[in-house]
Amino acid sequence: MNLTERDLKVIWHPYTQMKTALPPIPIVRGEGACVYDENGKKYIDAVSSWWTNIHGHAHPYIAKKVAEQLLELEHVIFAGFTHPGAVELAERLLQILPDNQQKAFYSDNGSTAVEVALKMCLQYWHNKGENRTKILAFKNAYHGDTFGAMAVSGRSAFTAAFDSLLFDVEFIDLPSDQNIQNLKSQISDLKSQLACFIFEPLVQGSAGMIMYKPEHLDELMAYCRKEDVLLIDDEVFTGFGRTGKPFACNHVTTQPDIMCFSKGLTGGTMALGLTTCTQDIFDAFLSDDKLKTLFHGHSFTANPVACAAALASMDIFLQSSTTENIKRIEGRHKEFGLKIKDHPKLKSVRQTGTIIAMEWQTGDNTSYFSSLRDRLYTYFLDAGIILRPLGNIIYILPPYCITNEELNYIYSKIEQALEEI
Ligand SMILES: *Cc1c(COP(=O)(O)O)cnc(C)c1O
Repeated sequence: MNLTERDLKVIWHPYTQMKTALPPIPIVRGEGACVYDENGKKYIDAVSSWWTNIHGHAHPYIAKKVAEQLLELEHVIFAGFTHPGAVELAERLLQILPDNQQKAFYSDNGSTAVEVALKMCLQYWHNKGENRTKILAFKNAYHGDTFGAMAVSGRSAFTAAFDSLLFDVEFIDLPSDQNIQNLKSQISDLKSQLACFIFEPLVQGSAGMIMYKPEHLDELMAYCRKEDVLLIDDEVFTGFGRTGKPFACNHVTTQPDIMCFSKGLTGGTMALGLTTCTQDIFDAFLSDDKLKTLFHGHSFTANPVACAAALASMDIFLQSSTTENIKRIEGRHKEFGLKIKDHPKLKSVRQTGTIIAMEWQTGDNTSYFSSLRDRLYTYFLDAGIILRPLGNIIYILPPYCITNEELNYIYSKIEQALEEI
């Protein structure tokens, strides 16, 4: 049996209808922006392996740091103990975040980083003896797949089986010039009950790379701040350069109370989640009353190997060559966007930083399950490009080390697809 056959005997894949899905492609090696299958076929990873890989695959520097850490300390309980990697990562990350971010809480992935953020906010008010239990979120949001993270995400086909068990959340539209006043009055009606507002800054990734203006986000954030509604900036996807600045919140002036990180945090090397918060939130849990403790943790909280990967990734992220690469990708995307934006088969082309998304015309049927999605997916796979469409929307968000030749190849295949599909 080959690897794919063995896989199909024992494995249940994520987000995969196992009855009808194509067999998984066995990847055995990665280098730069590319991964290679068993037979040596090369794929350009145009989606950074589910948006995680920012510096390229099997990066030698990250690999070296991880290997060194493994021989030093692989793991230690993080309640009652600490270790150099966790401290250094928190120190260095807080230094490049908005200056109100003062404390870091570790977990394992993006969903748990969000769970921690929600618990911090709800218990913040609980500890203060104030009855603020409602959460504000955007329609079509995506914050993860655990129950709390699902509850603050838009109700969709993904959540349908669980909808009756998800707690109620106040969902508002994404802001625009037309509705911003209206959104503020919706917030105003709820303000004294709202514990927090959680949002994906600038780009709703899973919803289909839906983008909105930083000015509008800033206005909503400032309004919530005025009403004492805590602000959770979910940077799990947008963090570490995706939007052209180090963090999406660098595009606005209002500082969030809480920030969530994962995906790019370790350069896509290891699972790690991180939630940072202000001194004010941290202080609301300080008490002689043990019941005011944040009772949350995971077995692998602050795993030293994952912290080593994150520190190595941060070293690379802070190099000027990485900033130049981000600018280069942003510029190349812009040029390509201008070139194709009026194509009759495209409904829209949009870009934020290193993310460019193209929405295919479909007539009425724009569902995630449309057959167009599968045709696009296999078309690009055949061409040696991993582009995983969200319904009729294809997007490129490559590792920052992608070369101009690789980008050109992806662009040319998209133009070809526009003619052929
Ligand atoms: C992917 C994602 C999450 C969930 O992260 P996981 O590591 O997949 O659990 C949360 N928020 C946003 C904005 C995401 O894109």
